[in-house]
Amino acid sequence: MSTGGGRRPVVAGNWKMNHVSDTALAFAQDLSAASGFWGGVDVALFPPATLLMVLHRVLAGTGVRLGGQACHQEARGAFTGEVSVAMLRDAGCEHVLVGHSERRALFGETDAVVRAKLGAALVGGLNPVLCVGETEQEREGGRTEAVLERQLATALDGLDATAASRLWVAYEPVWAIGTGRTATPGMAQEAHAFTRSRLGHAWGAETAEGVPILYGGSVKPDNFGRLLEERDIDGGLVGGASLAAADFLALVEAAAPTV
Ligand code: PEP
Repeated sequence: MSTGGGRRPVVAGNWKMNHVSDTALAFAQDLSAASGFWGGVDVALFPPATLLMVLHRVLAGTGVRLGGQACHQEARGAFTGEVSVAMLRDAGCEHVLVGHSERRALFGETDAVVRAKLGAALVGGLNPVLCVGETEQEREGGRTEAVLERQLATALDGLDATAASRLWVAYEPVWAIGTGRTATPGMAQEAHAFTRSRLGHAWGAETAEGVPILYGGSVKPDNFGRLLEERDIDGGLVGGASLAAADFLALVEAAAPTV
């Protein structure tokens, strides 16, 4: 489990395009009922935008943070179907995912667009969760670190250390997302350590030590505890296993510091 930089473990659930109000409310009820036990963990949910307002209301007082799954880089305008940073804040969000691999691969978000969205989130008062990670082909070609370097260099370009205090990074190898193929703890730690050193290059080692770096890619209750033992793995960004409250709560329990 991470210990450096005073980092708290994070469990973040990315629901993607799943759940409607009745199933989301049932989930929230289960979460509320259990909300006493996770004092040492930052718990966050990234539901579809349509569910944010109702979840903000029913999860008030539980400590669960809400985030958007994506945002537009412009503040307003003729962008049919898009959601702005201000809209996400208005709906109760503190965070927003930026650069999720599905956004990069399916919706054409380039590194430059990711950088623009990161800036918009920071200026607009949302704390960004920057997602990075290599494809299978890139890993097999020995290019994992080069890909992380490119994604991080563009995303962090021009950001000062005040941004660092509001940032979470998620290392999500694309080949592990939704596939059931989790990176080994050693592989994940290697990528996390590289990521932290790259943050250190931007802002200095001490600042980098304070940035939570989450692992994402087929995290489940039965593999999460082992991943969290690694020095630079501070939590998880979880898709499939965040959809059922029992699984999600098991992940929070695995991350909770033992007393
Ligand atoms: C994700 O979507 O960020 C993710 C990691 O999904 P899964 O946990 O289902 O692999």
